[in-house]
Amino acid sequence: MTNEEDLRDEIPSYAYISLARRGMEKISLDQCFLKNCDNNDSKLLEPFKKEEFENDKEQVQKIFIKCKKCGGTFILKLKTIKYVAKSTKDSDEEPLSMGLVYALDEDENNLGHIGYF
Ligand SMILES: [Zn+2]
Repeated sequence: MTNEEDLRDEIPSYAYISLARRGMEKISLDQCFLKNCDNNDSKLLEPFKKEEFENDKEQVQKIFIKCKKCGGTFILKLKTIKYVAKSTKDSDEEPLSMGLVYALDEDENNLGHIGYF
């Protein structure tokens, strides 16, 4: 699958960052995570490749994205942990997230844990 629109559908629109006792902050994943780049225009972001692997414990998707503003490439790594206990809290809350989002640079150096999806 190399269709760009299909790849876009694989990327969650938002990630959530835990703010300790102040709840969760929602951030857009339509942005470039490379240093010194402030691109947050999804039209300037071009997903072009996906790698996927899975084992007993987790499913990992890596989506390679080219930024047309800085010319760099970064990778959104979406890791879904299997067998996470379900939240027993109120059902109108956001479901307990079990997905983790990381940003990697082109050489797969970790740029940091972005949040949860
Ligand atoms: Zn950029």
